[in-house]
Amino acid sequence: DTAASSTAEAFRVVRNPNPATDAERAERLKDLAFGLQFTDHMAHMTWTADEGWADRRVEPYGPLQMDPAASVLHYAQEIFEGLKAYRWADGSVHLFRPVANAERLNRSAWRMALPELPVEDFMESIHALVEIDQAWVPDAPETSLYLRPFLIGTDVFLGLRAPKRVDYLLIASPSGPYFKGGVKPVSIWVERDYHRAGPGGTGAAKCGGNYAASLRPQMAAIERGFDQVLYLDAATGSVLEELGGMNVFAVHKDGTVLTPILNGNILEGVTRSSIIQLVEDEDLKVVERDITLTELRQGIEDGDIVEVFACGTAAIVTPVGRMASEDFDVTVGDGEPGPVTLKVRQRLTDIQYGRAEDTYGWMTQV
Ligand code: PMP
Repeated sequence: DTAASSTAEAFRVVRNPNPATDAERAERLKDLAFGLQFTDHMAHMTWTADEGWADRRVEPYGPLQMDPAASVLHYAQEIFEGLKAYRWADGSVHLFRPVANAERLNRSAWRMALPELPVEDFMESIHALVEIDQAWVPDAPETSLYLRPFLIGTDVFLGLRAPKRVDYLLIASPSGPYFKGGVKPVSIWVERDYHRAGPGGTGAAKCGGNYAASLRPQMAAIERGFDQVLYLDAATGSVLEELGGMNVFAVHKDGTVLTPILNGNILEGVTRSSIIQLVEDEDLKVVERDITLTELRQGIEDGDIVEVFACGTAAIVTPVGRMASEDFDVTVGDGEPGPVTLKVRQRLTDIQYGRAEDTYGWMTQV
């Protein structure tokens, strides 16, 4: 049990009267893709400007009743998080660095003028939901229970203001690998025409609007035959930022690992910061700094940059085999996953699935 849950208020449980049967659940846990299946329950809390957070409950998973004037539907007052619960070989269930997600949710909330959520409530909502729906934590290789906490403005008012009513929801989705094909390298289109964030914008917040705006460039990349988009900074158009939903790393042939420094426009990935620690402990040097596209492209062409990988909760660590834009098209290394990429992926997943000792204290048992 965590220290957090001892101070949190309990979540009242309203059980789903029609949960999936064991046979139905077993069927739905087969051949899991990402984000398509949902469990029997969800956690829910409501905030009002007058009373603060109240009405903590776990209730049947299902459609929300919402006033058509609810502010989220008009002004995109929405932020979210993503983290996973992992089934270990002994049957126990563990979360990876959930407090980091709680803290990031609160940084996003601040930027979007939404109320912060006490970390204890965030933790308690996860414990309560994962406990009641624990049979939904899958145990096949590379599967997990993906948790999606989110806040929405439910103020019934068409004037634009910080909402006076907000709902927090937590849903859970038993999931398999984000990219089918395991560690198959992805190809990346470097985007020159669109940016995901600008100075003073919302790039460092995990707000739904950022992802809505990423779909046009993502579709264009797919039409060109690429898997993902890499964004450059909006101010100069020359510095790497990140992918639509993942941070990026490059490995120099001398073993130095490079990643863009958090410049206020980049989402601070929990995976990113974990990898920085893991890599340092492998006696490799990590440098967080501005990386220009010219430097990256030249480095790949000259064989100085030998690996590029992307990382995030959903896709873990994914090798990048090819990068291109209007004026170049380069294969990274031999186009296959490199040794540092594979090592980092292995170290991280060994800790997450309890196959290696958790020397960092990253895991929390549910
Ligand atoms: N960048 C963006 C834009 C993202 O949406 C995500 C996914 N949350 C990440 C990076 C990776 O963050 P994390 O490692 O915390 O999942």
